[in-house]
Amino acid sequence: MINSDSRRGAERYLLRLALILATALAPSYAVTDYTISLVHPEQHLVEVQIQLPEGSSQRELQLPVWNALYQVRDFAQYLNWVRAKDRGGRPLTVHALDKSRWQISGAEGGAVVEYEIYVDSFGPFGAQLTPHHAFFNLAQILLYPVAARSEPMVVRFTQLPEGWHVATSLTPSPNGGFSAENYDRLVDSPVEMGRFQESDFDQDGGHYRVVVDAEPSDYDVEKIDAMLHKIVAAATSWMADRPFDIYMFLYHFPRGPAGGGMEHSYSTAIDVNADVLSRSPEVLASVTTHEFFHLWNVKRIRPQTLEPVDYTKENYTRALWFSEGCTSTAADIIQLRSGLLDESQFERQLSSGIAELERRPAHLTQSAEDSSLDAWLEGNAYYRRPERSISYYNKGELLGIMLDLTMREASHGQASLREVFQWMNQNYAKKGRFFPDSDGVREAAEAVSHADLGWFFAKYVAGTEEIPWNDFFRGVGLHLVEGKNTAADAGFVASRNFDGPMIVESVTAGGEAERAGLRAGDTILEINGKIAGQESSEEVTGLAAGDTITVRVRNRGGAERELKWKVGGREEITYELKDFENISVEQRARRTAWLKGEAQTLPAPSPH
Ligand SMILES: [Zn+2]
Repeated sequence: MINSDSRRGAERYLLRLALILATALAPSYAVTDYTISLVHPEQHLVEVQIQLPEGSSQRELQLPVWNALYQVRDFAQYLNWVRAKDRGGRPLTVHALDKSRWQISGAEGGAVVEYEIYVDSFGPFGAQLTPHHAFFNLAQILLYPVAARSEPMVVRFTQLPEGWHVATSLTPSPNGGFSAENYDRLVDSPVEMGRFQESDFDQDGGHYRVVVDAEPSDYDVEKIDAMLHKIVAAATSWMADRPFDIYMFLYHFPRGPAGGGMEHSYSTAIDVNADVLSRSPEVLASVTTHEFFHLWNVKRIRPQTLEPVDYTKENYTRALWFSEGCTSTAADIIQLRSGLLDESQFERQLSSGIAELERRPAHLTQSAEDSSLDAWLEGNAYYRRPERSISYYNKGELLGIMLDLTMREASHGQASLREVFQWMNQNYAKKGRFFPDSDGVREAAEAVSHADLGWFFAKYVAGTEEIPWNDFFRGVGLHLVEGKNTAADAGFVASRNFDGPMIVESVTAGGEAERAGLRAGDTILEINGKIAGQESSEEVTGLAAGDTITVRVRNRGGAERELKWKVGGREEITYELKDFENISVEQRARRTAWLKGEAQTLPAPSPH
């Protein structure tokens, strides 16, 4: 039976459904809605329109001063103009509050904010639009409404050149574009646009996208896919976890300067120079494993000091020795487990890591924690000098290995670095908590090894005591042998700040380079006819004492010239890890477990 009352009810229901559908299809004014127009690729200019929903009359909008790198880069320097209007098109007042923050008045009915910004910083830490492609770290482009930073947002891209596609780990939105639950998530999702090649694969329930923007002859997508299969299988099984459904690898293999990778929660962006890729494919495996492991360590196992992200100034943290350095340690283990690295390669790499630390005089004055805190100075050439700073990547990776060996020793092989990461994943990441920097690492290491490790953290993490390497290596039947070697010495040290030029940090007083006219602060354009890029340090290392080096430089006055001199020689300490002559059964078993990154499964022999 159908009576009139129930019929009316059904109609009301239909009407309500129709209204809900209409709301869903109409442009939504309920959330912050960005449109990025790729207006002038040849001039590297984009225009951004922000639709602000109804709300308070005054709104503050902030452009981050830093992102991706621990360096204040003041992206507002690239913002040409900003204006605002109400929904009826009437102009609203825009008032600058400081170099990166603006206030809009009269926005109670919502507002439309528009601005033009120049984007030409290449690489995984940048934002760039060229006639060839676009790669955006969105924090370098998008102002955020200060009061609505944690609310849902939508972004869309328009005026794409013909044939361009969009790749990002953001969720496609039903209204077109992409949505994110808040600004932090939005800007943790880099976007590639262009004519890239995309492939994908599934493994152990996870879906993986591989996006490559490079000359097709410079890479082999099947080799890359085969490498990725090994890395994701080894990493997810080592962590016994896969906290995502879909993950995206975004690669650029430029022929010019390149180098580096940037981690994100659901993707990574990695640049490797095309020559390096063909000569040393292990570089790609190593960077990729490091960035992939970051999806746990730093993105989810996250130090308290990096939260909440302060886009207006530095977030100071003492934890980068762990968040970066121990990510490299984990990447070593994952590569060993996946067969991408063998024991002798690993031990050679470890010895040269030790040499790198020992050769920097600053290892006696700057601790791993202080190096983390000073990360914000890395953009400066003087700071990068060996007498001024160590690298938290370098010392942190070594500390990860020493901590692993220490826990194995203290627990008779029953605890390792793997248990530390899994413990932190369970007790911090999975509970939505952040860990209290080095204290949190110590807490985890002590919990899994049932040992007091205060001495380790005091001496080597917070302190600058010389690391007695052989005390750590004894348990796995290895010892470090010091030697001497005559190394080529070009008479200067030069380095680059991510996408910047190669700058001379220091010149040896009285040396050939100084006599030839090279000065600290000069920009190196070419070394032996090759463009100075990421390659140049290798280029210099490839020289032998007595060779001639030709360097094209621009001095601080802007004048370019070519300098030539003979490369000298310098004695340096070398290190080599060697097997004990009579390695015991216990040491052998410990070594095997260590290289697998696992605790020993068999009960260890009882201590005497
Ligand atoms: Zn990293």
